[in-house]
Amino acid sequence: MPSKPAKVIWLQGITCNGNTHSFLNDPSLGALLESIEFIHHPILPCKKTLKELVKKLPKSDILIFEGAYRADFERAGVKMETLLVTLASKTKHIIALGSCASFGGIFKEASPEHISGILFDKESESGPLQTLRKKVITLSGCPIHPKWLSFVLDMIVQGKKITLDEYRRPKELYGYLVHNGCLRNEYFEWKVDSDHFGTKEGCLYYAQGCQGPFTHGSCNKILWNEVSSKTRAGTPCVGCTEPSYPRTELFSTKTYMSIPAEMPLGIPKRSYLALAGAAKSFHIKRLEGKLIDDNA
Ligand code: SF4
Ligand code: SF4
Repeated sequence: MPSKPAKVIWLQGITCNGNTHSFLNDPSLGALLESIEFIHHPILPCKKTLKELVKKLPKSDILIFEGAYRADFERAGVKMETLLVTLASKTKHIIALGSCASFGGIFKEASPEHISGILFDKESESGPLQTLRKKVITLSGCPIHPKWLSFVLDMIVQGKKITLDEYRRPKELYGYLVHNGCLRNEYFEWKVDSDHFGTKEGCLYYAQGCQGPFTHGSCNKILWNEVSSKTRAGTPCVGCTEPSYPRTELFSTKTYMSIPAEMPLGIPKRSYLALAGAAKSFHIKRLEGKLIDDNA
């Protein structure tokens, strides 16, 4: 453990504060705060208020940016194009926190021409921090799981290497699909669907638009509140970690002649259809009934 805590600035762009609140749910936050020190944070105790921060724009070890970027959006009377770019040039590591900071996210919908992430604008690497790209780590999610952020902060503090994917997301967290580890995989395999939210049985891909087979994230590996995930609770993944988020019609599956328009990632259509056809021809009683039947 380094002798001095790492100096962290948490700056907000256009945001709903979702990542700020999610981070407070990390049970190991107390231990983490022994190895980092916030120069500025929107709600946690810190050294400088926002007004004090913008007067000097100090150096830091880590800059966390939450929310979407718009050049003329102001914080404490200073435009984001000055605030973000100056703080980013004076730090060692930059974390794009949440889907808005990563790709533009939901706020981009309000003004697609002017709003983006800090490095990416949807899939395109055309955000304001292009020249500082090597410092950027992307943590997409709407919001992020608190453990994803504490994992990255801890790796930085320990001086460990973080392997990144094409969007500069840590592979340790985003190398998996949400589909991995979902308790409904057996239903997916045998094409048994669920039509309703909140059921214990059935896969949510065919009728409810579940994005688990296309979405990179460890939601079924690092569980939310340490107990569950969307798909475990019976609601479809809406793909919030991907640059394409948000899509329209979140809870429906687009089909052509009853065949899902999008194939699970990396699966050729022909192979999928052959397997799906064979799987559907079986009727497995165990999977068609209730897991827990109160009237049995
Ligand atoms: S509910 Fe979603 S994540 Fe789970 S098995 Fe079905 S498609 Fe995959
Ligand atoms: S389950 Fe899907 S929508 Fe929910 S947090 Fe994970 S990636 Fe985002």
